[in-house]
Amino acid sequence: MKSKSFTHIYLEDAFKKKGCPVCNVVDKYVKRYLDNFLYENVNSPSVRIQLRETLGFCNQHAWQAVEMKDGLGISIVYEDLLKTALESFEKYQLKDTTIIKQKKGATKNSFLPAIKNQEVSCPVCKLGREVEQNCIELIIKNLKEPSFNGLYKNSDGLCLKHLKLLIEYSSDSKITHEIINIERENILNLISDLQEYQRKHDYRFSHEPFGEEKDSWIRAVAKIVGKHPF
Ligand SMILES: [Zn+2]
Ligand SMILES: [Zn+2]
Repeated sequence: MKSKSFTHIYLEDAFKKKGCPVCNVVDKYVKRYLDNFLYENVNSPSVRIQLRETLGFCNQHAWQAVEMKDGLGISIVYEDLLKTALESFEKYQLKDTTIIKQKKGATKNSFLPAIKNQEVSCPVCKLGREVEQNCIELIIKNLKEPSFNGLYKNSDGLCLKHLKLLIEYSSDSKITHEIINIERENILNLISDLQEYQRKHDYRFSHEPFGEEKDSWIRAVAKIVGKHPF
């Protein structure tokens, strides 16, 4: 029997946790990337060159790196990135002065192009997209396998973003319908938890202790937008 990939093992593990399993696996890879980056790759020339292309990470991943509280690592990388930004200022001014007599505004788009790249080409976002794709392929491929199927059915299910990705990617309509049916059940259970949560806010029932439904309002948000980034 072919041995399972790490992503496959992480995914099976993520089915047993709260929230969307794909979000959980992506989160695991992202945290590991940022950890390695701060502890080993801060001074790596190839990582530096890669990061200059986008002036670092996108907003979400830059703040996630800050949350890891490694001030020294961040200070080294962001000093380098600020210097890169200054070089870009110089290049822009040089170009602008040379072609000033030509069409006005011709150079506007060339000011700090890296900032525009940031939202599209952030290396952590790229990694996340690869992991998402991997997980989606794994779910489609293994859904017929009884123990994998059982794990999926007993999980909180996918967030709607990852459900959409999966449905759009799948070319097997039997699998697509089975997954939509599983997710319909998940959403109906969540709606009933939300209704129970609201009922217990009525003064007539407010003496009743909260049960499983206590965090349903947070799970409802996560179902639609996916996991909180950190
Ligand atoms: Zn998700
Ligand atoms: Zn990012």
